[in-house]
Amino acid sequence: MSLKREDDGSVWMHEHLHTGFSTTYRLEETLFDSNTPHQRLVVGRTEAFGNVVWLDGVTQVTERDEFCYHEMLAHVPILAHGMAKSVLVIGGGDGGMAEEVLKHKSVEKLVMVEIDAGVIDFAREHLSSINKGCFDDQRFELVIADGKDFAATSENRFDVIIVDSTDPVGPGEVLFTRSFYSDCKRMLNDGGVLVTQNGVPWFQSDELHNTMFNFANLFADAGCYLTVVPTYAGGFMALGWGTDNSNLRAVDEATLQARFEAVDLNCRYYNPAVHKAAFALPGFIADIVDKATQQADETG
Ligand code: SAM
Repeated sequence: MSLKREDDGSVWMHEHLHTGFSTTYRLEETLFDSNTPHQRLVVGRTEAFGNVVWLDGVTQVTERDEFCYHEMLAHVPILAHGMAKSVLVIGGGDGGMAEEVLKHKSVEKLVMVEIDAGVIDFAREHLSSINKGCFDDQRFELVIADGKDFAATSENRFDVIIVDSTDPVGPGEVLFTRSFYSDCKRMLNDGGVLVTQNGVPWFQSDELHNTMFNFANLFADAGCYLTVVPTYAGGFMALGWGTDNSNLRAVDEATLQARFEAVDLNCRYYNPAVHKAAFALPGFIADIVDKATQQADETG
């Protein structure tokens, strides 16, 4: 990440997540810039996307387009499941994922395992437009720990597990491993589903291939579905999908509609038609999934 002041006095934040490509935001004010014990946390008010959170120089969430990501990673698994009572979020420090999950009255318990208390502290104070104070919900339990360690030792069981992590660099790297995914599977109740933040295939095809290879070895139904988040530049964003309950993907639109209408989700991205369509993959993404699945079949 780098800051540049232009001749006209404007200040621009450059994110360099992808080789040879950068995303640039016109910065109106830097609200926070400090190192937590785990990562560098920068928050700025930008002209185009409102408040933006960067961790180790990578865009995590913006006020303007967070709903495109949080709605699809939360409501697709929960509405497909239909009776989710216990949900685990790993990561999710901004609170946006927890806010969406807790809209479901069927959810009796949400455990969120976040490695960095500094992100939570900042989010409580400065990102209420995203988390809307969900941290105070009676059903919400916060665990400050490495998600990998939690998954390896927890006796808890969950109907839906959502990995809302950073990318596989720094503290997030351990959340893209076979052993972590295997531990997540162990924590799933029968019929449960694991979904994961899996990057932008246009730039991060290896990340998706790795997760699909591991999911194909672990789950009867392994794949991904898509969303589009303008500030996760590069087109479609892949969300990993792993479950032994192949019925979940097949839930028809009418059933999803009935479940959707029963909960006042007030969504601006998610709807049942988009839910079903999100599993339709363009050829270049389907190829990544197919090759990973084939490799898993051949090597195990
Ligand atoms: N929407 C973002 C994305 O798609 O990259 C993710 C946002 S959320 C802020 C990512 C969170 O994962 C951060 O709060 C970070 O501290 C947390 N995190 C990273 N590695 C972790 C780990 N090993 N265990 C638990 N939380 C972790």
